[in-house]
Amino acid sequence: MTQDRKTPQGIADAVQAELVELSELMTEPGERECLRCYLLRMINEFGCDGAHRWTIRWRDRRAPRARGLPRRLAQLGGCCDCEVMLNVFPQYPETDRLLPCAGQPQPGSAAPCNLRPLRRTA
Ligand SMILES: [Zn+2]
Ligand SMILES: [Zn+2]
Repeated sequence: MTQDRKTPQGIADAVQAELVELSELMTEPGERECLRCYLLRMINEFGCDGAHRWTIRWRDRRAPRARGLPRRLAQLGGCCDCEVMLNVFPQYPETDRLLPCAGQPQPGSAAPCNLRPLRRTA
């Protein structure tokens, strides 16, 4: 690293702000995105931090009244986001890439969407 700082602080700040905005957008749960598909997308993209970071973000946006959701999931064996995926939502169609969420029609419901109809194979 040289001491020569050519980048004006203003530009650095603007870039920083843009990055924050971008990550805000990327981590925003879809309007009807179910918890399962959201967690899968976030863990795939950003990983699990050993807590309910994404579960709580989803809950705050999609089911703000489900205060006990992280605790309920923990009781089912999902003590962090990736464990929720493994233990609470183990049924996911076998696929080598993420499927688009089929949509959870009931606002506030943490039940996973039904991806079955999207399966091409019998
Ligand atoms: Zn985890
Ligand atoms: Zn879904």
